[in-house]
Amino acid sequence: MNIGYGRVARELIDEARMLAEEYHRACIGCLLCTPGCVSYRALGAARYSPPRRLRAAYHVLVKGSPTSEDIETIYTCTMCGACTILCPYGIEVWRVVLAARIKLSIEGKQPQSLQEIARNIVRGHSFTPNPEAPKKLLLSIAEKVGVPVDEPADYLYIPSPFETTIYPDILEDALTVLKKAGYSIAVSTKALDLGGNAAFDAARPDVALNALANVINTAEELGVRGIVLSGCGADHKLLLLAKHYSWLTSNMEAVNIYELIHQHIRMSGGGRGENNKDRLLFPSCGFARFERESYPSVKALTHAKPPRDKPPYTLCCGGGGGLNYLREQPLATLRNRIYEWRIRNLCKGCKAREIVTPCIKCYTVLRHGVLLAKLYGKVKVTHLVQAVRRQHSKEPSRANTPQASNSPG
Ligand code: SF4
Ligand code: SF4
Repeated sequence: MNIGYGRVARELIDEARMLAEEYHRACIGCLLCTPGCVSYRALGAARYSPPRRLRAAYHVLVKGSPTSEDIETIYTCTMCGACTILCPYGIEVWRVVLAARIKLSIEGKQPQSLQEIARNIVRGHSFTPNPEAPKKLLLSIAEKVGVPVDEPADYLYIPSPFETTIYPDILEDALTVLKKAGYSIAVSTKALDLGGNAAFDAARPDVALNALANVINTAEELGVRGIVLSGCGADHKLLLLAKHYSWLTSNMEAVNIYELIHQHIRMSGGGRGENNKDRLLFPSCGFARFERESYPSVKALTHAKPPRDKPPYTLCCGGGGGLNYLREQPLATLRNRIYEWRIRNLCKGCKAREIVTPCIKCYTVLRHGVLLAKLYGKVKVTHLVQAVRRQHSKEPSRANTPQASNSPG
């Protein structure tokens, strides 16, 4: 296992510099991409449109002289990839925006609130400089559910940083559902954070890869057969990026929590229910666009249809790319306008009273949007592991059955 990924950021910037030049020539300004862009639709000004983001990234990567407007344009892009699907040339705005952010972060020009994530993850947890409190929370939830800590098992569950800080209830639900399904699961105080938030939100893939390598080393030391990724879109994207560029040499199996749960439900003959008309699936860009392998499991577990958006490509909660962490003005105010628009647009003409999402960032963002749009009490946002635990709470546990000693995975 290689530790030390400093070259990765440089490689991504070099690759994107060529792409930025190519896209600068290729973009014809037709604006066919704009209906897919949540931030443009919410903020309604040309400077937030995908072609302007291309231009801003070009200024950062090629010219090296971005204006303050360019910086604002870049940090209000959620890097959701919706514009790429609508563009006749398949221009990947998110890719050059990410590279521009990597360059800005290396130069120390990114917002302070995003720099903190990169500094924190070096100590083990994206959200705090002191990982002792998340460790204690992990230990107490593991004890409550009866999941071993730092001990051998079939799988090592890697919580998202949200689960060991603001949403321990979701960590409890995830571990409970996996345990009830009969999987042999452990957690580790040495593997608190896979690094997805550092890779994309803090735009430090080099730092994030060290976090990912640390998780895999811990898993190898414990002798597990695989790591289980939580319901966090950013962690899934990081793993895809690492695989795409062959940055990691380990053969450690990485499985998605939803695929494991769905596999168990299929094996036990359950899960074929009617769609719930009061419920809407918000699939997230992470699960429905980038990590498509697990999307069938997400759909099957949710028992709900995705929204009918026009065009049907806007799978963006509005908080990707670290928008949810921004405290600096005017970025934080712009972010709140995007959140409010997102939830209002989602609920327009829709009878559903519950929105279920597989991604913990979407969960956070949509809940924030509900408050901003004053829809509290009218619309409820649920994370998919919460919904699964609720749905299957009456199923008999397999934990004490003979099959439980052999993991169904
Ligand atoms: S990646 Fe998403 S937020 Fe960024 S320009 Fe494209 S559609 Fe808009
Ligand atoms: S659809 Fe493609 S070519 Fe047209 S403005 Fe958007 S990025 Fe440029």
